[in-house]
Order: sequence, then structure tokens, then C-alpha cells
Amino acid sequence: MSSLVVVAHMASRFALSGLVFGPIMEVMQRMGQIAVVVLMSPLPFAAFACSMPRPEEYLGPATLRKRMVAEQIKARGIRDERVLRAMERVPRHEFVPDHLQTVAYRDHAIAIDHGQSISQPYVVALMTELLELKPNSVVLEVGTGSGYQAAILAEIAARVFSVERIPQLADSARCRLERLGYRHVSVRTGDGYEGWPEAAPFDAIIVTCGGDHVPEPLLQQLKPGGTLVMPVGPTTDCQTLWLIEKDHKGRLSKHKKGNVRFVPLRRGD
Ligand code: SAH
Repeated sequence: MSSLVVVAHMASRFALSGLVFGPIMEVMQRMGQIAVVVLMSPLPFAAFACSMPRPEEYLGPATLRKRMVAEQIKARGIRDERVLRAMERVPRHEFVPDHLQTVAYRDHAIAIDHGQSISQPYVVALMTELLELKPNSVVLEVGTGSGYQAAILAEIAARVFSVERIPQLADSARCRLERLGYRHVSVRTGDGYEGWPEAAPFDAIIVTCGGDHVPEPLLQQLKPGGTLVMPVGPTTDCQTLWLIEKDHKGRLSKHKKGNVRFVPLRRGD
């Protein structure tokens, strides 16, 4: 190792004094500059180590998605093949701000514009699985945000309607979904508390913001035999994920599916 340093050092000095002895010398010169910097100087070495890419940057998005599904979603008990496939297909990194793309597949929620957030992958998968979607399902989402959850729904269902109260978010989600080829998703700006009466009834309804009760218009717009999921509880703290089923006689039953933390459902548009 020390002879390499000496050779490298010499090569570097020759290079500095402007002496170049053909291609071999040139290669040595380069090796020398790198080796001298790396082996003899702790400070540049530290800088070099810090600028080394994190593991996410070595792996492509498809590989990261496979890993996300195996480690965060399957490992926690999600079994519905259609949900697992959807999570593996939708390019989550396309739905987060540019500077957060490298962390898009990590096990946490991600901040998007206007103080809102895109849920942790596992929570997206869990809520989707609870809806028990079929290929012919018509789904309503309240809280489009980035459009990521809508894309996951669209991978499985026939038609998705999604309402977002912040016009800029609705517009950018609409463009993004169109660009990615999700043509059977309709996004509109409005107060999702009121649902989407013109498109009702729905086989499934998903509310991706928390409130202290399930909006009555949503219960009315749910088909008999349909399912609704929503985080219910104090908007300043954790909520409980509620699964509501409407049977064929129109009777409602409620099941609690664990604790979650969502941004609040706000009234008005
Ligand atoms: N599902 C989204 C994340 C939702 S964040 C995704 O996959 O990215 C919750 C969203 O609900 C926010 O964008 C917020 O603006 C929206 N929201 C809050 N109250 C609403 C309401 N009354 N009607 C429609 N959208 C609402």
C-alpha cells in the first residue's frame, strides 16, 4: 500500500510540474491524484464519504417498490394480491415533491404542498385492502392530495372519483394522474364532506383526512353491500380507522381497525 502511495504521490508531483509521459503516465497521474487524496488526507476523504449515494440511489424505483411491498406491507399482514400488485406498480416517487423523491419508498408519510401529506405506504395498502374492491367497483375518495391513493384505487377498480378542497392540489393531481395514464380517475375541487352526488352511489368510499364523525352524505352515497373507511377521532391527535359496512338491507355496521394519524377534514371549499 505504501509503495502505491509513493508512486501515486510522484505521479501527482509530475502532473503538477506539467511533465506528462504519454498515456501510461496519464493513467498513473489520475490514479495518483485520487489515491493521494483518498489515502493521505482525512478531510477530503470525509467529504467523499458524505457525498456517497445512499442505498436508495443505487436501486431503481421498481426495485425499491418490490422491497417496500415485501418489508413494509406483506410483512405486516396485507394479503390481497390486487393491493400488493397495485402498490408494486404505482410510481410513488412521482407523487412526492422533487427533493423527496429519494425517500419516497421509505416507511413513513411524506409532506406534500399546502401543509398536507401523503400517507405511509402501509396505511395506503391497509385502507385499500379494507375496501375489498373488485374490478367493476366505483370508488369515491375524499382528499385527493397528491393523487397517489387515487392511483392505487384506479389500479384495481373500474372508476375513481376523487374530491380535493385545495384547488392547486386538485389541479396538479389531475395533471399527474393523466400523465401517468390513469384516465378513469376524475378529480374535482370541492368539499368532500358532501361527497359527489352526481356520481353516486359508490361501491366503496375512502376518506383520507380525519374527522370527528363520518359525514352523513357519504353514508347516503354508499351502495348497499358497500364499504367505507375513514379515520375518526380528534383532529389534533390520533384517530381510529373505522371500517363501515352497509348490508343489502341498508344497515350499517362499524369495525375499528387500529390507530392512525391523518390531516383534518376541513369544511368548505
Ligand atoms: N390521499 C392523498 C393524501 C391525503 S392528505 C394522497 O394519496 O396523496 C388529505 C387531503 O384531504 C388534503 O389534501 C386536504 O386538503 C384534503 N381535504 C381536507 N378536507 C377536505 C374536504 N372537506 N374535502 C376534500 N378534501 C379535503
